[in-house]
Amino acid sequence: MVERTRFNIPISRPQLGVEEEEAVLAVLRSGQITQGERVAAFEAAFAAYHGAEYAIATSNGTTALSTVIMAHGIGAGDEVIIPSFSFFATASSVSFTGAVPVFADIDPKTFNLSPEAVEAAITPRTAAIMPVHLYGQPADMPALEAIARKHGLILLEDAAQAHGAKIGERSVGTWGTASFSFYATKNMTTTEGGMILTNDAEIARKARIIRNQGMDQQYEHVLMGFNLRMTNLTAAIGLVQLDKLPQWTAKRRENAALYDTALTSVETPYVQPGVTHVYHQYTVRVKPGIDRDVAVRQLNGNGIGVRTYYPKPIHRQPVYAREERYARLDLPETERAVREVFSLPVHPGLSSEELEFIIDEVNALC
Ligand SMILES: *Cc1c(COP(=O)(O)O)cnc(C)c1O
Repeated sequence: MVERTRFNIPISRPQLGVEEEEAVLAVLRSGQITQGERVAAFEAAFAAYHGAEYAIATSNGTTALSTVIMAHGIGAGDEVIIPSFSFFATASSVSFTGAVPVFADIDPKTFNLSPEAVEAAITPRTAAIMPVHLYGQPADMPALEAIARKHGLILLEDAAQAHGAKIGERSVGTWGTASFSFYATKNMTTTEGGMILTNDAEIARKARIIRNQGMDQQYEHVLMGFNLRMTNLTAAIGLVQLDKLPQWTAKRRENAALYDTALTSVETPYVQPGVTHVYHQYTVRVKPGIDRDVAVRQLNGNGIGVRTYYPKPIHRQPVYAREERYARLDLPETERAVREVFSLPVHPGLSSEELEFIIDEVNALC
């Protein structure tokens, strides 16, 4: 009898090598450990990679988002339209500035903000629209840009999951002021870290001031700011990771293409024509009659780290749900996605044996 290999396949696996180790050691030995030259170099490289004018590195993706909101002068009483089908930080970063998150429903095919739902959510208090490029697929930026222009709204991007994703030849992060995350599970990491991209010199200037205690020069505090800086230590990791990102993205897309053809028992991801999906997650929908939670438990039991992103919409999180306006909210496609989706490991560290095992086990679901 052949002994069956036992797998233990995590949903993500940070790829860290000797290049990262050497980069960190070089910074430690230099003594220049806080925000400095490595941060500036990382900003320049990240901006160039996406074709954006300015980059501002921050302590994490959540602080990048809040800094963007503040740099645009959005605050108390202003509304920002976002999806509820996202990670909590998409909303908390808005709330932290005093602005009000307004949740709009998603397109059931892409899981991204529905432009029609966004337009319906606009009120006289709306200041901005902030789509999320969920799972690494760009939101419908041309449609959202048209809506923003028509109503005089600011266009922002939560690109925390979409490093290097594109619509045609144009990268995410160049449509509106954008925030990226370098948390350990993202497509590239700096341990913790974030980045703002913008083509607006004044927004870039304000974001730098807010990041550094609101100072425009030493001990002259001109805006309300905070300590939201990145360090040279983590920026050095980011520079190495950015070099490796294209090959990792290619591997993620290769893994996804394999799943697309091999998986028969689930609905595989719909990709909008003309976009480059970078597969932060490979997210499937269960077929009618299949209980998602049972499927996830079965796969987890077999050593496959499938996960549900996200098991609860943000507006139903207790901290929001106790407010009347959120308790009343009905977002049917968000609710359906929350019940029906799960994500498979798609990261570049997967071996062909692991991919084959995942495909066999998922296909055995029905
Ligand atoms: C990860 C993530 C964030 C927050 O980034 P952190 O670096 O963890 O603070 C925000 N929005 C989305 C969609 C994310 O996936």
